[in-house]
Amino acid sequence: MRVYTESFSFKTRGPIDIIDITGNVQKIVTKSQIKNGIAHIFAPHATGIIVLTENEENLLNDIRRLLEDLVPEGGNYAHPSNAHAHLRSLLLPPDKTVPVVDGRLALGTWQSIMFIETDIYPRTRTVIVTVMGE
Ligand code: ZN
Repeated sequence: MRVYTESFSFKTRGPIDIIDITGNVQKIVTKSQIKNGIAHIFAPHATGIIVLTENEENLLNDIRRLLEDLVPEGGNYAHPSNAHAHLRSLLLPPDKTVPVVDGRLALGTWQSIMFIETDIYPRTRTVIVTVMGE
């Protein structure tokens, strides 16, 4: 079995910015030359989430509203300044595992790999992709 790891970085525009990273991940899978196995996609951040969902603007607004409703910005929190950012981040995991079949991410028709910024400022984010297989 081979293991190939590569990361990429990008800028976010602030709270609940949602960025489609499917293309970046597929590029790394292609570069790995691994044809069959799995790709693990991981964001090493305490205030960032990775989801698989449809990249449709109304749905993305619904996701923003859900996170705001579940963890409002003005709650009575103990952690200084960005507690809601951390709490939103722990509702959903910072990683996903996707099968690789014939050198392609085996995503469903309506599945895109999306990074969600939950912090209160624009940030530079990194995603680490590990491809394992043959
Ligand atoms: Zn903090």
